[in-house]
Amino acid sequence: MKAIVVGSGFGGLASAIRLAVKGYDVTVLEKRDKPGGRAYVFEQDGFTFDAGPTIITAPFLFEELFTLAGRRIDEYARLFPIDPFYEIRFHDGERFRYTGDPERMRAEVQRLSPRDVAGFETFMRKSRAIFEKGFLELGHVPFHDPWAMVKTIPSLVRLESYRSVLGLVSRHIRSEKLRQVFSFHPLLVGGDPQHAPAIYALICFLERQWGVHFAEGGMGAVVRGMVRLLQDLDVDVRLSCPVEQILVEGQRVRGVRVAGGEEIAADLVVCNSDLSWTYQKLIGPEHRPHNSDRKLQRMRYSMGLFLIYFGTRRTYPDLAHHTIILGPRYEGLLDDIFKHKRLATDMSLYLHTPTRSDGSLAPPGHECFYVLAPVPNLAGGIDWASVKERYRDAIYDVLERDCVPGLRDALVTERLFTPADFETELRSWLGAGFSFEPVLTQSAYFRGHNVCPDIANLYFVGAGTHPGAGLPGVLSSAKVTDSLIPAIGRRVARPPEVVRSAVA
Ligand SMILES: Cc1cc2nc3c(=O)[nH]c(=O)nc-3n(C[C@H](O)[C@H](O)[C@H](O)COP(=O)(O)OP(=O)(O)OC[C@H]3O[C@@H](n4cnc5c(N)ncnc54)[C@H](O)[C@@H]3O)c2cc1C
Repeated sequence: MKAIVVGSGFGGLASAIRLAVKGYDVTVLEKRDKPGGRAYVFEQDGFTFDAGPTIITAPFLFEELFTLAGRRIDEYARLFPIDPFYEIRFHDGERFRYTGDPERMRAEVQRLSPRDVAGFETFMRKSRAIFEKGFLELGHVPFHDPWAMVKTIPSLVRLESYRSVLGLVSRHIRSEKLRQVFSFHPLLVGGDPQHAPAIYALICFLERQWGVHFAEGGMGAVVRGMVRLLQDLDVDVRLSCPVEQILVEGQRVRGVRVAGGEEIAADLVVCNSDLSWTYQKLIGPEHRPHNSDRKLQRMRYSMGLFLIYFGTRRTYPDLAHHTIILGPRYEGLLDDIFKHKRLATDMSLYLHTPTRSDGSLAPPGHECFYVLAPVPNLAGGIDWASVKERYRDAIYDVLERDCVPGLRDALVTERLFTPADFETELRSWLGAGFSFEPVLTQSAYFRGHNVCPDIANLYFVGAGTHPGAGLPGVLSSAKVTDSLIPAIGRRVARPPEVVRSAVA
């Protein structure tokens, strides 16, 4: 049985491994010249830049893929924990070291706002309860049946999912600074903390449960490890091979057409390409009554991301691996990004400094960075070609003032990536960083289904599907999709999935 996976993001790679383990003859077709999707890697002037994800929060989901194939992950890639998880720098110069250690966290909360210690403990207990339901129970099960959704409503109410993440945090914590510290997490999956349902507060406990990890040699080492595993499983990964059409006959897919006109037949197709783009651009509207252009265009899309990858000829030992630099406004800035879709003059930033953990990513004595600013997606009509350099300069001003002094003098290499690039390079609808915005009305049953409701042998995986964006989300989506695909006699021994033992 022949299976095609369109796209080689983490969701696509995980799906391809699962299909191969199931016994399918798998081909992965990737538009770009390298695998990894948002986890693309490029080398420039002696620096190695991971273009996308940098924070691994549920490493067992990677391990599980290798175990399924009868291998050990450390034969392919080595993950290691990062401490602190983040250093958060406030606009007034105050800092917060965010770790997974309950005692150190309590001490940090106590230092910043003694009256919030009890509320912080209550919030973490709630985060744990949400994690147990939302991640352990519901994160790996399909949601294409409305009854699955109906059955979860009592739990969602009990876990206060009608509140936003910021609403839940604010119920228990009074300090404005700590409210930001414990509510920013939805931004990691494309959501506005003011509107992402409280179910996303599970991320706080998820981080504490398994830690925040990175990979030796950078995130690209994980991509390379997965591709090597695919090669060991005889999976063909074809790069620079964009799929231009999904070929449908009746209510079944018969294959795909790639750029240049070649048609490749398949018994089933799993799309890891952007769900909205795939439906609207690769499948004729007559084949998908449940996913019309109109319906897809009325959905809310996550924010865009503006990225600068840069390297300096000096190092900055004072920096943590992950730094969050909060600007003077929180709610107002979020409204500008998500609601008004305008480019504000102030900003909050995430600074990635991987050479703080792995010096191999830059020449000796140099520092490798990327800085990321959440910005409106392309629905805001911002002309990135004309504003990107000005915006870059504004970001450098903040970095030079707050944590990378002398940046411009020390700069040796640089590359920009804007929402317009997400659209052209990744074929992401509206240049969104994380597909659909994670709001209650676009979660679980209301998110993209992992199996197409109109076309029997067409499946989806990745950020636009249940459970959503982020590495735990897309790896879990591969698991959900796998559970829907018929088994055909396994080629590789498949031990029990490790999620339960990882939790115990
Ligand atoms: C800058 C950035 C930082 C992030 N940081 C983190 C983090 O630290 N931790 C975390 O957990 N998450 C993070 N995320 C989110 C996470 O990276 C993504 O949610 C996840 O990687 C998306 O994976 P995916 O499987 O949906 O596929 P994607 O990575 O979106 O890949 C889809 C692939 O499909 C290909 N494709 C598209 N159209 C076609 C076509 N027609 N034919 C063939 N191929 C096609 C694309 O080229 C792409 O390679 C970050 C995201 C970004 C952008």
